[in-house]
Formats: sequence, C-alpha cells, structure tokens
Amino acid sequence: MLDAAVTVGALPRRFDGLTGLDAYFAAARGTSGDAGERAPLEMTKWFDTNYHYLVPEIGPDTTFALDAARLVAQVTEAVAEGYETRPVVVGPVSFLLLAKPSDDAPAGFSPLSRLGDLLPVYAGLLRELREAGATWVQLDESGLVADHLTDTSDVTPEATRAAVTEAYRVLATELDAAERPAILLQASYGSLGAALPVVAATDVEAVALDLVRGALPTGPVDGLESKTLVAGVVDGRNIWRADLAAKLDLLERAQGLGAAGVVVGTSTSLQHVPHDVTTERWDDATLDANLHAWLAFADQKVAEVAVLAKALTDGRDAVADEVRASSDAVASRRDAAGVRVDAVRARTAALSRHDFERGEHDARVAEQASRLALPPLPTTTIGSFPQTVDIRRARAAHAKGELSTEAYEQAMRDEIARVVTLQEELGLDVLVHGEAERNDMVQYFAELLDGFAVTSNGWVQSYGSRCTRPSILWGDVSRPEPMTVRWTTYAQSLTEKPLKGMLTGPVTIMAWSFVRDDVPLAETANQLGLALRDEIADLEAAGIAVVQVDEPALRELLPLRKADQETYLNWSVGSFRLATAGVRPDTQIHTHLCYSEFGEVIGAIDHLDADVTSIEAARSRMEILPELRDEGFGRGVGPGVYDIHSPRVPSTGEVVELLELAVKTVDPTLLWVNPDCGLKTRGYAEVNPSLEHLVAAAREVRATL
Ligand code: GLN
Ligand code: ZN
Repeated sequence: MLDAAVTVGALPRRFDGLTGLDAYFAAARGTSGDAGERAPLEMTKWFDTNYHYLVPEIGPDTTFALDAARLVAQVTEAVAEGYETRPVVVGPVSFLLLAKPSDDAPAGFSPLSRLGDLLPVYAGLLRELREAGATWVQLDESGLVADHLTDTSDVTPEATRAAVTEAYRVLATELDAAERPAILLQASYGSLGAALPVVAATDVEAVALDLVRGALPTGPVDGLESKTLVAGVVDGRNIWRADLAAKLDLLERAQGLGAAGVVVGTSTSLQHVPHDVTTERWDDATLDANLHAWLAFADQKVAEVAVLAKALTDGRDAVADEVRASSDAVASRRDAAGVRVDAVRARTAALSRHDFERGEHDARVAEQASRLALPPLPTTTIGSFPQTVDIRRARAAHAKGELSTEAYEQAMRDEIARVVTLQEELGLDVLVHGEAERNDMVQYFAELLDGFAVTSNGWVQSYGSRCTRPSILWGDVSRPEPMTVRWTTYAQSLTEKPLKGMLTGPVTIMAWSFVRDDVPLAETANQLGLALRDEIADLEAAGIAVVQVDEPALRELLPLRKADQETYLNWSVGSFRLATAGVRPDTQIHTHLCYSEFGEVIGAIDHLDADVTSIEAARSRMEILPELRDEGFGRGVGPGVYDIHSPRVPSTGEVVELLELAVKTVDPTLLWVNPDCGLKTRGYAEVNPSLEHLVAAAREVRATL
C-alpha cells in the first residue's frame, strides 16, 4: 500500500520535499526534531490477518501523479537478467477502499469518489511497465471480498461494483492491448461473491480466485470464457501440506466453469507463511517426523503448485507418486496420537449452556467491591513491564543451555519482585507481575499446552521489521499442568494489594498461531476455553482475586462478510465466557482489547460478560466513551489514558484532561485508569514518569468526584 501510494504520488502533503527511501521511512515512522514534526501514516491490519499496512490518506484535494521509477527499474533489471516477472500492484479500486479520508475531508467523503482522477495514473503506469518489457501485471483487488473495510468510509457493495466496471473499462478496454501488459486481477482472502460476474464482464485477461477461503462459483460465469482462471487452491495462509487428490478434484470443478484456461496458484501471497519447513527440528522424534510430513511452508507450497500444474497438463498419472505421498500424510495426520484426544472431545461435547453463564452482574459487582476495597478511578496497568536487555539475555542464555533453569527462574523472580516494589512505590491500586517470564503472550502458552508445536525459524512479517513466530496448533488442546500459578502467587505473596493473574484468551491464541484445518475453529476455541478455565480455577484457589484474559485479536478475526459475523462472534465470545464463567462472584474478571475501532463489536464486548474491559483510547481522545454510554455499557471500563506505542511521556495535565472528559461521559464508578496497552516494548526511562503522572492524575480527578 505504501508502494502504491508513492507510485501514484498520493502521499499526504506533510511528506512533500522528501524523496526516495526518506519518503518511505517518513511515511512509515513519522519524523520529529530537526527533521520536522510529521505524524506517520496510520497502520492497520490487512484484511483478517496479523499483517499490517500503512493507510493512505485521500481527500478531495489529493493530487495524483505517476512515479513509476521503482517498479520500472525492477522490471528492467529482471528483463536484463533474462527473467520474465509479473509486477504486482494494489488495484485502483482496492487502493481507494483501503485508504481513509484525509483529516481535511468533509464528513461523508469517500476516497472511492476520486477513482476518476486516479485511473489515468494507473493507465500511465501500465504503459510504462509494458515499455519496460512486462507482459503481465497483477492488480490486487482483494478489497472486493469484504463487505466493508474501514470504519470511516461507508461504501455500498453496489458502488464498489460500479467502480470495478469503470476502472477496468479505462485500464483494460480503453488501453489498447499492445500498449499495456495483460492484466491479472487477483482477489484473495475470501469470495468475490456478487463482484465475480462484474469482474468477469471486464476485459482483463485473467482472474485469480482464493479457493481456500472462498468458494468456487456454482455454475459457469458469463465473460469467463475469454479469460484465464487462476485457481488459488494451495493455502497461502496456513502451513498444512495440501491434500493433492482433493485439490485435483477442485481444479477439475474449476475447469467446468468455462474459462479459456485454468492455471494453478496459491490462494494468497505467501507472505503469511514461513519459508521452509526443512530447516525445522522438533525435539520429540515422533512429532518431528510427523510435522515434517504434515507441513508445507512457502517453498513446499510452490512445489505443490508445480505438481498440480503438471497434473493439469500431463494428467494425474504423471504425478501419481506425489499424490500418494500427500494422501499418506493426510491419513497419518488423521490417525496420529494427540490429534484427536477422546477425553478432550468428551469434555467439549458435554458442555451445556450453564458452563457459559456467570452469576448475576449486580450481585457480583457488590461482592467484588467489598473484597477488593478499591478507591474510585482505580489505577492499574495492562500486564507487561519492560522486557529489558537483561531479561532477554537471561532467556537467550537459558535457551542455549548456558544458564541453568534454576538460575533463569531466580532471575525472573527477582525481576517480578522489582516490578511489584516499583508498582507499590508508584501507588498503583491493582498490580501485575509484569510478564518477565513470557517470550510472547501466545507462544508462552503454546509451549505449555498439549496440542501445539513451536518453530525455531518460522518467522512471518507483522509490520515493518517486526516479525512473529506463530505457533502450530496441530492437536486437541489440553493443559498438562498449571501454567502461570506459581509466578502469579509468588508476585501476590510480595504485596497486600490485589495482583491480577494474566492470561491470553482463546481467540488471540488462535489468531496468532497456525490453526488446524481438520476441526471447526469453534471446537478448538472451546478446548482452549476449558484449559484456561482450569487455569483460572487454580489461580482462584490460590487466592488470586482478579484475573485478566487478554483478547486483543477478537476484532482481527471478524469475518470480512457481514453474513458470517454473527456465527463468529457466537463462538469467539462463547470461548471467552467458557474460560471465565466458572469463577466465584467475588473474583473480578478483566479483559483487554487493544484497538480503537469498536463500532461493530461493542455488543460483543458486552457479551464477554467481563467485569472490567481495558481498551485503547488515548490516540482517539476517548472517542469510544460516548459510544459505550449510548449503548448502555454498564461494566467497568479502562479507556487507555496514554499511548504506549510512542516513547513520549504524557504530562499529568494531559492525563487529567482525558480523565475529566471520561468522568463527564460515563458513570465515574465504572471508570478505571490505565495505559493503552502493555509496557513490554518501552524502557523504564519512559515507564516510570508516565506511570507517576498517571497515578497523580487519577488522584487529582478522584478528589473532584
Ligand atoms: N497483557 C499483555 C501485555 O501487557 C497484553 C498485550 C496486548 O494486548 N497485545 O503485554
Ligand atoms: Zn493491548
């Protein structure tokens, strides 16, 4: 998206005067000090993935001007080396759908209204690519698989489809075929649905469909007979080896749609999966052998595409060995120990309504108030404290075998003690242990739960230079032993103040792992819910009075089509309730959701039935609060009062101002005071003064109540 914004010359005015990589970096990270104050572009999640993109800002006055130099240089270089490549650019319709209105745009402005001005620039780009020697270009139009993409622009599906017709009339019909590369229109992450006939009616030469998340159309589609159909049958988002026989059947059905030709592809780009499974080693010999047979990372997926393509040209017999090996892998996975655990299935099958229900809310509130005895506007943090160099060094040394487990755990206990003392000195009301012992909020649990494997080299980009190593959920999930109890009770033993047990919720564990494709997500969510329920019961029995279950990814997995959202919200919210509903009325359940677009999920947040919800709110200046008030949200709420994503230290006055806004908007007895998110990426030089100011501000506003 950033590349596309630069290519069409649409970076906001504040980046004027910057060129080349300076402009890219400034747009991605912002600038300050001597370089001048410039806010970066906003970053948001790409479709329903954990990859983030930079959001272009488009207004009525945005100018578009072609800057094709970077793409053209790449094509020219490839041609000179003798390679035929297919440049990939975000298509014009999706570019505008994924953009947001600039700050100066009038209310109701939609970036898509600028399509007419953008198209000549895309036409110029296609001409230059052709001149440079590109015979094909890929225009990504995945925006067409979602009913709506940003909360700020309200574009109807009809308007989107009209835009497709217009865009490809200009780019495919009006541009002479000799003047431009052939166009492949790619749509990933779901089905085109009603947009498919519209795309098929354009004059693009090829259409690529996601046939993993998306479904094959049920009958022939008018217009397809003149196009190549790229059948995205190999899963670009998950790591399971393909069942080649099943994929060949799917390809045969794709051939029945009447396209001029069928080509094999992956369902999405391969950016969502790690590179190469052959570099992984798992300690357990059986698991190692199994996972190598069951998994396909990017390199293996490319080989699968090649095998399937060979079958299309030379017949199934030509790939009989490969198909047999893949069927064997499927069978071995189906039958392997741990994939299906009867005791786990029996437990989820026996769940009843009652397991998802907590006692009456008002009664709970009273019992918690008397047990916790907190002041109004209680102060707390979201869980993690800085992961210092020392912590990371100790973990690395322990992993290498240079530091004994005893010494490592002692170092973590010392760190926890430091963090507890610090919070007491700061005067916070509800403390945390600081999560020093956790490498990552998902991987930590994946390492302790049965049913997961973790990788050593399986990195996937999240944004910029930040990568994550998603865990692999391969079997039924259960908890062999308590995961957090000894750390939490140790921390609680050091203080009289209540200390929050800290867990990651089922949906977030699933969203940031590679999930199974052989059971419904709802089943896995309940298995995780039960494992967490047991953990919470153990924490409660050990005297912990407050437990937080983080679900920052609840919004991320929200289906792109409205029709699918209710089912998703039922099972996802259900799994959170399953995890938390077993507690006593006087145990307080917190949740944390770190994003600010709640509009469409406010009802779901209420259904979580948590006692207190902390959310990101500082950057949006508490915009969420009127929404919560209007929805009659009657639960504790901690709108973040400062942005932890920036090293900036907020002043006491600033926090007071936000809190004054908050107490005017919602019932002050519901309000909590906390930062926007965990502090693990920050240093103590920022954390100490920031929290000092937070506590001072809470005391000041408390005194006015
Ligand atoms: N408890 C976690 C932390 O503080 C929550 C992180 C998150 O929301 N991403 O780090
Ligand atoms: Zn967060």
